[in-house]
Amino acid sequence: MNSPANPPATADAGEGKVSNFLRQIIEKDLQQGTYASRRWAGSPGDAAHHATGQPDPAKIRTRFPPEPNGYLHVGHAKSICLNFGLARDYGGVCHLRFDDTNPEKEDQEYVNSIIDAVKWLGFDWAQIGQAPGSAAPYQASDYFGFMYRAAEYLIEAGHAYVDEQTPEEMRVNRGDFGKPGVDSPFRSRTPAENLARFREMRDGKHADGAMVLRAKIDMASPNINLRDPAIYRIRHAEHHHTGNTWCVYPMYTFAHPIEDALEQITHSICTLEFEDQRPFYDWLLERLIEGGLLASPPPRQYEFARLNLTYVVTSKRKLAQLVNEKRVSGWDDPRMPTIVGLRRRGYTPEALQLFAERIGVTKSDSWIDYSTLEGCLREDLENKAHRGMAVLDPVKLVLTNWAEAFGSDSYLEACTLPALPHSAIAEGQTPPPDRVFQIGKEVWIEREDFEEVPPKGYKRLFPGNVVRLKGGYVIECTGCVRDAAGNVTEVHAKVIPGTKSGTPGADSVKAKAAITWVGVADGVQAEVRLYDRLFADAHPDAGGKDFLRALNPDSLKVVTAYVEPSLAAAQPDQKFQFERFGYFVADRADHAPGKPVFNRAVGLKDSWGK
Ligand code: ATP
Ligand code: MG
Repeated sequence: MNSPANPPATADAGEGKVSNFLRQIIEKDLQQGTYASRRWAGSPGDAAHHATGQPDPAKIRTRFPPEPNGYLHVGHAKSICLNFGLARDYGGVCHLRFDDTNPEKEDQEYVNSIIDAVKWLGFDWAQIGQAPGSAAPYQASDYFGFMYRAAEYLIEAGHAYVDEQTPEEMRVNRGDFGKPGVDSPFRSRTPAENLARFREMRDGKHADGAMVLRAKIDMASPNINLRDPAIYRIRHAEHHHTGNTWCVYPMYTFAHPIEDALEQITHSICTLEFEDQRPFYDWLLERLIEGGLLASPPPRQYEFARLNLTYVVTSKRKLAQLVNEKRVSGWDDPRMPTIVGLRRRGYTPEALQLFAERIGVTKSDSWIDYSTLEGCLREDLENKAHRGMAVLDPVKLVLTNWAEAFGSDSYLEACTLPALPHSAIAEGQTPPPDRVFQIGKEVWIEREDFEEVPPKGYKRLFPGNVVRLKGGYVIECTGCVRDAAGNVTEVHAKVIPGTKSGTPGADSVKAKAAITWVGVADGVQAEVRLYDRLFADAHPDAGGKDFLRALNPDSLKVVTAYVEPSLAAAQPDQKFQFERFGYFVADRADHAPGKPVFNRAVGLKDSWGK
């Protein structure tokens, strides 16, 4: 990332970026000094500021709060780029915080993968990932003690009560959009009774589901989220971080505002489905500020439209189903929209950041076409990925006059081509060394580059036609050899000496086309995985459809190809443009020197366009 060492912490730090409603809010807050009075004290996640208690007026703090119950996907990438990007641009901090309030579903494996994903996406962790002196990532479970005290405070102040209705009674009595709720018979208990009951809950005296702690707000509120939402529940479950310390756990809607406030978050940015939760978010923080448990001003919640991408499902549950039912090879299958999947597919952090910039943030839901994502990858790799030749559907081409032309059938001649085209080299940049490969009597060509009887307009190899082997010689096709079944087993041609690319005679014979090829002598066999979209339907899970029925049966085709030596020498994760085919990456897991494995990241052109 090209973040300056000391990003300017001014109100116009977003200059040069496309503005959006969130940038406008932040710039206004910075101008008005909304958070200028704030002393970064009392934040358990922020030891340095706690120690000094100094105000830090020019800062914003955002957070990215995943629940560690699955691998992150492209939608999360949007949220990461947004939250870390805003912190970077305005000289602030973004907290990676694990929202680990759900003991049953969470796991350290997911925690690790999320940290990896955020770092890989390219935000300078030390610079913007944490406040000075504090240790990111943050985790909600660090605040369970505070949350418990906050709950006792609400009880003492008459803002919460223990409800012993059955879940079914609670559901019925909550009412619905047209019907106000009905007060629980336990709603009028005294604070002392409630406190005693709540402590029994904490002390493990009651079974899961026997009772819950509810905020006491308004059972007739038009916003159902304010009809005495549950804030604490009993779960006799081991937590991956706090072990068996607790058997009561805070509900997400209660925990989240407190996490934000304790970490001194200024702008709490989330997706639109939380809009109806905002009144409770504000209600809770106001109560706790009243009680002196939290400092003013509180963080504010802002909502933006989540990413909806065509041909993709992003629900963690559905992604887990694809993995568990072995529809894909794992969370990092290159067809998965997970960050590990995209990475293995050949996506770069820069491509995903470009994508996040390009789609922007809005307040209304819409669909982004998958080709927008692919376009960002092409754009990023265009000037970076070294070129190379690969033959994906090989048939042997024999240059029958080779010995006559060069003295021996075993004669080899070195050919070179640039690793990057001239247009990809920035001014002042030194071009990478040329690729070198050998031409000999036999080379591999694409099966589709020969037709014994050419269709109309066909310019490649057919008897009598003259074609250039790219970077090598011009040749004239003479025919082919077929097996008993009629399949072409060899194509024959004559080399025309003196026509080699880059020599004075190169243009002495006019070729109708240039075709890609790989030498039999120095070409290396490679496994090439031709990935395509995982779903054939642009909206695989729209309207309650069974998304599994929309799986694209042709989303993976594995071929045995030949690649030129520069490709065979690839490092895992290195990206290339296979000339004429698209962008490919040496597989992170399976590629090894001597045993090349490549994944197709994206074709050169959008082949799905209408
Ligand atoms: P899912 O609904 O697939 O289980 P989630 O939203 O529950 O995902 P979280 O771990 O809660 O997953 O998400 C962490 C953050 O990422 C949240 O702030 C959430 O708003 C954001 N996020 C999740 N999905 C998207 C998306 N498609 N586009 C943008 N942001 C998203
Ligand atoms: Mg969520």
